[in-house]
Amino acid sequence: MEFNPNQRQGAVKQITSHSNPIVKEIKGLVAQRKHRRDSGLFVAEGLKLATDALEAGWGVRYLALGPEARENKTALDAAAKAKARGALILEVSNAVLGAITRRDNPQMVVGVYEQQTLSLADITPENSTTWIVLDRVRDPGNLGTIMRTGDAVGASGVVLIDDTTDPFAVECVRATMGSLFHMPIVRCSSDEFISFRKNWPGPVVGTHLRGTKDYRAVQYKEPVLLMMGNEQAGLSDKLADACSDLVKIPQAGQADSMNLAVATAVMLYEVRRDYLKL
Ligand code: SAM
Repeated sequence: MEFNPNQRQGAVKQITSHSNPIVKEIKGLVAQRKHRRDSGLFVAEGLKLATDALEAGWGVRYLALGPEARENKTALDAAAKAKARGALILEVSNAVLGAITRRDNPQMVVGVYEQQTLSLADITPENSTTWIVLDRVRDPGNLGTIMRTGDAVGASGVVLIDDTTDPFAVECVRATMGSLFHMPIVRCSSDEFISFRKNWPGPVVGTHLRGTKDYRAVQYKEPVLLMMGNEQAGLSDKLADACSDLVKIPQAGQADSMNLAVATAVMLYEVRRDYLKL
């Protein structure tokens, strides 16, 4: 359904019916990647994420408030801010919130935001820069967890190569716990990345089970591109060939490898060691 700007300017609308067209539109954004791609919108649940999105200046289309939110000062402040930016504020029942998010115990606030992504040309390599480069990441929970961890250690953002899971899928957004609004996302193909990488002034560190170097043996002093592989196939040969170092995280037990998000966290705590403070 097309968004009607005349309808939303500074408005508040009460919705009780599950078959309301706006409710159907938001449900479509939760359920279908195509709908998110065509509209450029996505859904994020919760008051914390609404506050994060508004503070970080993301565009907000709808903010749906359940009955509890309409008694909550922080939620009402968020709604006032969103409304001032042109969002349509929806006053809905808990049943409507549950239907939108397909949850029995929905959050009291659900927002619809405008997607933001960058291109490789927007990346500037400064000394404290660490970009996390993900080859065909498939699992939305892994991607969200990686974005949250990247945010925690002050990484600059994520580069998503080739066909990846949708960073704006509700499962990924949930797993980021709000870090989605602070971690820039770049999308590109392997070939575009390999060409970009040629002018990168620092180490391009690939993590690989065939790596012969211990990940703690690399100097992570300059801007770093940290490359992580697909959950099943690992890093593709052509991306592995584009790395300056191929490192391995040593293991002792019977597991063949570590979970992608866990391996990324281990790497990030080494790469970002000098920037972390209590
Ligand atoms: N079967 C895949 C392979 O052969 O590469 C396993 C992929 S692993 C589940 C997913 C990604 O996590 C890897 O591509 C790598 O980036 C990272 N990873 C997991 N365990 C690792 C380890 N011990 N050392 C280095 N990277 C690791």
